[in-house]
Amino acid sequence: SLGQNVIVIVPGANLLLNFEDLKRASDVICKAKVVVCQLEITPAVSLEALKMARASGVKTLFNPAPALADLDPQFYAYSDIFCCNETEAEILTGISVGNLEDAEKVGRMLLERGCKLVIVTLGAEGCMMISGEEPIPKHVPAGKVRAVDTTGAGDSFVGALAFYLAYYPKLSMEEMIRKSNCVASVSVQAPGTQSSYPYRKDLPQDLF
Ligand code: ADP
Repeated sequence: SLGQNVIVIVPGANLLLNFEDLKRASDVICKAKVVVCQLEITPAVSLEALKMARASGVKTLFNPAPALADLDPQFYAYSDIFCCNETEAEILTGISVGNLEDAEKVGRMLLERGCKLVIVTLGAEGCMMISGEEPIPKHVPAGKVRAVDTTGAGDSFVGALAFYLAYYPKLSMEEMIRKSNCVASVSVQAPGTQSSYPYRKDLPQDLF
């Protein structure tokens, strides 16, 4: 399908994850450097994980995927970083994101809802970031690559960002996002959702 996403979601097992499981994992959650949540499990369980993390001073990174129109507004308040793509942005705000200005509007709206920092990923255009501390939106472009399959690009971006937050916390957010763009842009150059990153020797070493 020429680089377009085709995704089948079979959430049965994921929906079995419950509050008991969270309690059992609380030690890991509360001692983590960063906790990443999204909506592939029951949203209330995801929200509770964010709350547990926040209560322990653990950084929270939330990706509202798959998007929900009636997302519990507490998700905004408990997200240090709220990272969505254009589709998710539109479902959450009603703003159809066709360019950077639209993404900035989304960013401002989500900051008002209580996030500390908002990232809207823009596919080949990289992303837009805005935060309460730096309310002038920034465009962080991605490198030009030949995309063959963008499935999983968002997950690749979020995973990379979590890695930099945990292991390179002194980097500026803009630098972390630039590097995460780079990791995600690797993932779109091969079929499937694996970035095959460790196996490629032709990649820039300054990602680490
Ligand atoms: P999703 O996979 O959730 O739809 P995006 O399409 O916005 O998310 O992609 C997430 C990130 O992946 C982008 O911010 C960018 O870093 C990278 N990316 C996606 N598509 C491309 C592309 N065609 N060229 C370069 N980077 C890309």
